[in-house]
Amino acid sequence: MKAWKCPNCSKKAGVPVLYGLPTRGSAEAAERGELVLGGCVLTDDDPPRCCTECRAALWHGGVFAVPGAADDLRIGLSGGRSGRRLMAEVSPDWQLTITWRGGERREADLVVSPGNVDLVLAILATDMLGSGAALQRWLQRYGLGFVGSLEGPADRCVVSSDGMVSFAGCDGDILVHSSIERLLLHLTKTMYRRQGYRSIAEFQGRLSVFGLDADRSDSEPLRES
Ligand SMILES: [Zn+2]
Repeated sequence: MKAWKCPNCSKKAGVPVLYGLPTRGSAEAAERGELVLGGCVLTDDDPPRCCTECRAALWHGGVFAVPGAADDLRIGLSGGRSGRRLMAEVSPDWQLTITWRGGERREADLVVSPGNVDLVLAILATDMLGSGAALQRWLQRYGLGFVGSLEGPADRCVVSSDGMVSFAGCDGDILVHSSIERLLLHLTKTMYRRQGYRSIAEFQGRLSVFGLDADRSDSEPLRES
């Protein structure tokens, strides 16, 4: 099986994680670095791959989490085309920060405060995916677990304090039980891809149409790397 390129350290070292009791064969494969043993404790949101170089947990679509103490846990995504690189990070308290690098300068970062997490999720899901059926297909595609069924558009999004996200409309509702961080990151990335945004300002403009104000940090020049 081909190793994934790790979006955190850029090494081609993302190997499958094997959950459950290891056999002798799988233990030997782990010693050779062909897979990583994930143990027997399973959650809803276990990463399918792990980087053997930097130990980042890897999910589909370029979403990754860097292991460490709770305070410096970083989860992000990368998705570049023509040398540009979008990085989105969600802090443990759900602040979304989007950075965009490319060309000669770095644009100011976009910061969405944790208090707006339900609004930004609703905007991303309804603006981009339209119907509840499309939202369900999208959740399935990225392995984001959910229960329930929604046919028409979602017009409400509620985030509970423990990170459960529900989308509701006139004809049904769905409850997403994957991590809110992954949901936010996948939605941001899909939004950028589908809309073909070329800058953070365009994304910010879209959010402001819905009354969501996001902060921009000061613009700073990017050194050639
Ligand atoms: Zn790595």
